Amino acid sequence: AADAEDKIEDIEEEKTPTRVTYNIVFVTSEAAPYSKTGGLGDVCGSLPIALARRGHRVMVVSPRYLNGTPADKNFEHAVDLDRRIKLSCFGGEQEVAFFHEYKEGVDWVFVDHPSYHRPGNPYGDIHGAFGDNQFRFTLLCHAACEAPLVLPLGGYTYGEKCLFLVNDWHAGLVPVLLASKYRPFGVYKDSRSILIIHNLAHQGVEPAATYKNLGLPSEWYGALEWVFPTWARTHALDTGEAVNILKGAIVTADRLLTVSKGYAWEITTVEGGYGLQELLSSRRSVLNGIANGIDVAEWDPSSDQHIAFHYSADDLSGKVQCKTALQKELGLPIRPECPLIGFIGRLDYQKGIDLIRWATPELMQYDVQFVMLGSGDPLYEDWMRSAEAAYRDKFRGWVGFNVPISHRITAGCDILLMPSRFEPCGLNQLYAMRYGTVPVVHATGGLRDTVENFNPYAAEGSGEGTGWTFSPLTKESMLEALRIAIMTYKEYKPTWEGLMKRGMQRDLTWESAAKQYEQGPIILAEFSSKEAG
Ligand code: ADP
Repeated sequence: AADAEDKIEDIEEEKTPTRVTYNIVFVTSEAAPYSKTGGLGDVCGSLPIALARRGHRVMVVSPRYLNGTPADKNFEHAVDLDRRIKLSCFGGEQEVAFFHEYKEGVDWVFVDHPSYHRPGNPYGDIHGAFGDNQFRFTLLCHAACEAPLVLPLGGYTYGEKCLFLVNDWHAGLVPVLLASKYRPFGVYKDSRSILIIHNLAHQGVEPAATYKNLGLPSEWYGALEWVFPTWARTHALDTGEAVNILKGAIVTADRLLTVSKGYAWEITTVEGGYGLQELLSSRRSVLNGIANGIDVAEWDPSSDQHIAFHYSADDLSGKVQCKTALQKELGLPIRPECPLIGFIGRLDYQKGIDLIRWATPELMQYDVQFVMLGSGDPLYEDWMRSAEAAYRDKFRGWVGFNVPISHRITAGCDILLMPSRFEPCGLNQLYAMRYGTVPVVHATGGLRDTVENFNPYAAEGSGEGTGWTFSPLTKESMLEALRIAIMTYKEYKPTWEGLMKRGMQRDLTWESAAKQYEQGPIILAEFSSKEAG
């Protein structure tokens, strides 16, 4: 019956005369499975496919990274389009090539240049961030503006009427280029751009003298102009003048979007705005938030290729087998009844690792096991190794980026801990809920939007909610939330199962997120086109 209802809904929708399709161009520094360091890669690997399924023509433009590891194979099916173009920036003509793969209804376009071929991840290596990232991502933006005009994909170009979805600062020059270099000459008049902010903490700020390299008309300097506050200047003669690419995008994009509603509000506050709060507040009327979906095929406990046992909300028996398999793999005592807590993520101040580190000695006094998977700040990597040595029978710290292990932790744990300081959306809590792993999260941004705090009194005493959201962000409140979660797990089995099942039954698909994109910012961007026209 549910299927039939879905079909009726689909048919109704097809009939809706107002549904318009667009030529959509994503510009992004990462797109899974080709490249990924975090949530941005997941979003730009999934949302384009969901929009293509809804009838839009969709292209994703991203660099062709080659780092000499097996990851290079990700690009093996992308063929050289044999279309070299010269881009005017950084004091000369930079030649780039384009590679292309058509997959899952999407044109994946990879910009090729020697600066994308080096060891490390998209942004840096063991020595830190690459010194020429401004150059590398300026190239990406110039190339992305040309791609719809010059690449005959499937026989014909995307043309001048496109909707650009530009992601974070790396793609931030696209709306600036549209406004300053194309529209004044009558090109892309009917195109619109939406800036998607995945993380405001990174803005692409460089010394003001680099402006001349960006290939923008000199009179557009004001759009990127950025002045550091006095306290942030390095010496008395430092005027604090800089260029800020994300700021330029915020000023010039037609619409602004973040990856959750909560984060859309937070970035307009002093605490979350990273100096851009006033500018963002001034654009509030075009600022919106839509929570990310997840790839429900990749993250499916009933068919996941990385886990040894499968399960679903109707039959949870495989989950405890996943747990004991994980305990075995990690060399922890095999104790199905002992609450197993997990953490997965970048070892970064943003993720609240310092709080976990602080709380661990107390947490280790509870009857629990705790496994952390992450890489990043060497300080925290070292700490994870030393904690493992100190709590041999309770703690495992897996240093590295390992997708199969992340699936096995998500499936095998009972509780997922996310004490993020801020979280634009957060994906791991969504994966956790889908796998019946109950999230305990700081009530911030996308975490607050997506995890419904447990209310034991609701629904005539059977409870509502999918996890625990704690606040403020202190060691005490985090430990208290964990203590209640552990107690519920140990002593109230039916309640726990209710939490698991409600999480597993949530609609976390990209299809529903894609519909919201269409109904909100995409339609609105089109409206602004009509207004402008
Ligand atoms: P962010 O984008 O801030 O890193 P998100 O929660 O939005 O955070 O997305 C992080 C993504 O990266 C998730 O898919 C998560 O599973 C993955 N991830 C993070 N660290 C690791 C790791 N060490 N190994 C495997 N996957 C990881």
